[in-house]
Amino acid sequence: MWVVPEKEIAGLMTPEAAFDAVEAVFASMASGDAYNFPVVREAIGHEDALYGFKGGFDRKGANLGLKAGGYWPNNQKHGLINHQSTVFLFDPDTGRVAAAVGGNLLTALRTAAASAVSIKHLAPAGAKVLGMIGAGHQSAFQMRAAAGVHGFEKVIGWNPHPEMLGRLADTAADLGLPFEAVDLDRLGAEADVIISITSAFDPLLMDGHVTGPTHIAAMGTDTKGKQELDPALIARARLFTDEVAQSLSIGEFQHAAAQKTISDSDVIAIGRVITGNHEGRGNAEVTIFDGTGVGLQDLAVAGAVVELARQQGKAIEVEI
Ligand code: NAD
Repeated sequence: MWVVPEKEIAGLMTPEAAFDAVEAVFASMASGDAYNFPVVREAIGHEDALYGFKGGFDRKGANLGLKAGGYWPNNQKHGLINHQSTVFLFDPDTGRVAAAVGGNLLTALRTAAASAVSIKHLAPAGAKVLGMIGAGHQSAFQMRAAAGVHGFEKVIGWNPHPEMLGRLADTAADLGLPFEAVDLDRLGAEADVIISITSAFDPLLMDGHVTGPTHIAAMGTDTKGKQELDPALIARARLFTDEVAQSLSIGEFQHAAAQKTISDSDVIAIGRVITGNHEGRGNAEVTIFDGTGVGLQDLAVAGAVVELARQQGKAIEVEI
């Protein structure tokens, strides 16, 4: 089997390669060539950790496997980041383990790639202003990937903890884009594309905040109980997601589904837009992409990274 250490990922995987891998696997999911397995996520009663597995099989991309890991909130005392994960790939022809790949940076890149895919396919024509809600670890990756797929002219941002906004300002400066910290009224009125990536458990962006043609990539909600958007905003938008069942159970649309203001037929898999089987934005004023994070995204970027690592002599071969 091949081992690709976490420390090698930054030198191997680019946001562009992550975008291509994620866009392709969303298309495979929509055409029935790839499917995700049920997610396991457990509070293990140790170190307040949440641990689980996300897996799947992509017949077209020949990727079979899982990402194992989760969230350890006290990791700072060990000098480690709180999100920890590893991707394991298996040979779909024999079942033998094929690779173990550091999954921490890959998770940020594949999550940012998902919202960038949605922006490429769903942003309103002529979108100029990117609005960021959230200023944590993921936010910088999100902004970079969005700027990579669309020619934004300005970034505006809001975060429940304003002391963290420096990360957004620094990232925008690095991208050569002007940045302004704003309140949510201005963010909803001025942004053409909004990315939300927080750990919120109550809605932050309300229906009344959002005016004009807008695309929202809601990326923070990946667990039961989390919530970033007002269900009334969801009820008047055209809805897209990575995987419909996951969106309605653990994604942003779980609350509107529970209140029965939407049903599964209202939510469109983004892969259908990528493969040309759905018109996408059409005449909708507001579109929302619920990026719940599926195992196949992890397998897609890990598969790509193993290829690159082998080509560049950075993969370690181990007999198991
Ligand atoms: P982080 O801990 O670095 O930052 C947390 C962010 O959420 C900050 O903006 C912070 O101000 C805000 N926040 C913290 N507590 C909050 C609260 N109670 N209410 C509202 N906002 C709060 O986290 P991160 O690594 O940037 O991840 C952000 C979110 O994205 C997390 O919820 C994480 O689980 C989620 N995530 C989703 C995917 C996916 O595929 N959809 C992938 C990775 C991470």
